Amino acid sequence: MAAADIDWTRVRADFPILEREVHGKPLIYFDSANTGQKPACVIEATAEFYRRHNANVSRAVHALGNEATEAYEGARATLARHFHIRADELVLCSGTTFAMNLVAYSWALPRLQPGDAILVSRMEHHANIVPWQLIAQRTGAVLKVAELRPDGSLDLDALRAAMTPEVRILGLAHVSNVLGTINPVAAICKEAARRGIVSVIDGSQAAPHMPVDIAAIGCDFYAATGHKMGGPTGTGLLWARREHLAAMPPFLGGGEMIKEVRFEGSVFNDPPHRFEAGTPNIAGAVGLGAASDYLDAIGLANIAAREQELLAHATEELLKIDGLRIFGTAPEKAAVISFAIDGTHSHDLATLLDLEGVAVRSGQHCAHPLLQWLGVGTTCRASLAYYNTHAEIEAFIAALRKVRGLLG
Ligand code: PLP
Repeated sequence: MAAADIDWTRVRADFPILEREVHGKPLIYFDSANTGQKPACVIEATAEFYRRHNANVSRAVHALGNEATEAYEGARATLARHFHIRADELVLCSGTTFAMNLVAYSWALPRLQPGDAILVSRMEHHANIVPWQLIAQRTGAVLKVAELRPDGSLDLDALRAAMTPEVRILGLAHVSNVLGTINPVAAICKEAARRGIVSVIDGSQAAPHMPVDIAAIGCDFYAATGHKMGGPTGTGLLWARREHLAAMPPFLGGGEMIKEVRFEGSVFNDPPHRFEAGTPNIAGAVGLGAASDYLDAIGLANIAAREQELLAHATEELLKIDGLRIFGTAPEKAAVISFAIDGTHSHDLATLLDLEGVAVRSGQHCAHPLLQWLGVGTTCRASLAYYNTHAEIEAFIAALRKVRGLLG
């Protein structure tokens, strides 16, 4: 089915929270880059797990224990199909932040040494900067930055030039959470691999909005955040090549990640369970599996097409507002619009928009180095999803004009 044939009003009705009012106004939720709203099927899958199957995984021989283990491993298998990867290469975790730290501490820390470099782009979220800084401090490696073009796209020539022999790792966002820029990750990862650089892709803002075929991207590591995909909070995943996972020591120690424990030493479990110490977020994983099924039922290509339509509409209307600047105008762009209005503070705008029922984010979006480059303290960010509507965009623009008037 094509995007044009989908009844988006019916899709929207799958999201109970979107029926809410806020401050007496219908909720207009334009903060999906922060966290995505959850369709009823995800809420129900999570509740059903607790209602009928709740037990711990991989420990009990009783019926519920088996059901819980099947549900948890079933979610892993569902997600593996969704991302075109093998289930035994998929680590379930709390989100991209955990995933990046796992790669940093388990893969990079034992390997990096003075003289090595870690390359990241200017547009990275702190989750793809700070773990590398911590590893650089401990190993004597240095952090290098690949800069952007004025439109917020990656300067690919500069990136290639920065891929010097001392670079061991490239950390790169698939999609920027501030600029919306979609990076050509497959071509970049190919180039990195040619030079022996291990690529770590932050897919947090890509996975909810476009088809992601991790195998086709050809990276070494790919992280995604479940709660932005319509899954429960505290869910996510890391995919890694088998040879990397096999060579990586555990990050956290405890139950589930071992085969045998003696006081003299322990034998660790095989990947991916080696990296899932302790009781996992079982219900969360089940919910995330349901979320990926939900996205697949609509089709991520349809979702991307729908969101491009909403992005074009919102951008056109925003640019009609005097003194409004949009940060991030790359030709390949997801439905994330960061903006500022001359003479107003983004916190004031966001606070007054909230009173109109409109939820946008204001701040630095966990991307301080990018905001420094943009030369602004903060921005407002309207981030759209397929469950938003053209009518909401009109109402948002009217609200923005009103609050802008109030701010003088
Ligand atoms: N990377 C990007 C690009 C993000 O937008 C986010 C979330 O805002 C993260 C990483 C971190 O995700 P989480 O906090 O779910 O681990």
